[in-house]
Amino acid sequence: MLGRRAFLAGAALALAQGKALAATSAPLPKAEQVGDGLWVVRGADEPIAWGNGGAIANSVILDAPAGAVLIDPGPSRLYGQALGRLAQRLCSKKVGMVLITHLHPDHAMGACAFDPAIVHALPQTRKDIGEQGSDFADALYRILAGAMQGTTVLTPQGDLAAGPLDAMGRGLQLYALNGHSAGDLVVLDEQTQALITGDLVFHNRAPATPHARIDQWQDSLSKLEAIPHRLLIPGHGPLDTGGEALAQTRDWLGWVQDSLQRAVDSGLDMVEAGALPIPDRFAPLRQARYEWQRSVAHFYAGLETQALPIL
Ligand SMILES: [Zn+2]
Repeated sequence: MLGRRAFLAGAALALAQGKALAATSAPLPKAEQVGDGLWVVRGADEPIAWGNGGAIANSVILDAPAGAVLIDPGPSRLYGQALGRLAQRLCSKKVGMVLITHLHPDHAMGACAFDPAIVHALPQTRKDIGEQGSDFADALYRILAGAMQGTTVLTPQGDLAAGPLDAMGRGLQLYALNGHSAGDLVVLDEQTQALITGDLVFHNRAPATPHARIDQWQDSLSKLEAIPHRLLIPGHGPLDTGGEALAQTRDWLGWVQDSLQRAVDSGLDMVEAGALPIPDRFAPLRQARYEWQRSVAHFYAGLETQALPIL
């Protein structure tokens, strides 16, 4: 039990450390232990917005013998720094390795809080961040303003490949998949059998599709279903232990693909398509209307072009 004095001292320290972040809209990250030496920092199940400082993606902290390992350092330098302090407090070690699951800024831009030499990603993700990182940064600065102060695009220095990885002395299995983006890293923590999926899996939160190839994504979900695991940590939304998140992501993507095709075939315009009813079974998914309308925006022009008669 924490004494009142210790609590107050801790609170004062947290206040000092959080001062930079508290001066902005961004909430301080909070960790939830979900396994031996394994913590999840949950993002808000919301779109990127000023009030959440862009902290909408889940991050993972692993306690490894030679240092803390951080998976997905969040949207900004300040948030990345706060995650680094949190990891150091939990593991009594500095962050020695940062892994980025994919290019999206809510997962990746906090990497600039760390030494580039310790930041690793798949080669495809390095390429994507190199090409698109500055556009993402511009977009986040417009929405998040002060929460982004000091944030720069950091291209990961380390290449990751599928197979085993000795992460600061903790055994991980890496999978190089795609479909949510062109390069989606999935991590299996051997010690806890936790499957850390990045944005290939969303749980009780509608999947985002700005760089999605839905057929590839469905193939990747089949591969994930075949990996034995005890716990699944999705890119967004709560943990899952029963396979619900994988099934839900698959169901949503199937519905999106079918509904887009039907809407194009029946000649609806984008506004009409965006207003189509969403089935009741998706009621548990936060942001369903928002993501459906974004998917219409992402895919509609391409589907209409395919549907046009060749003259
Ligand atoms: Zn993403």
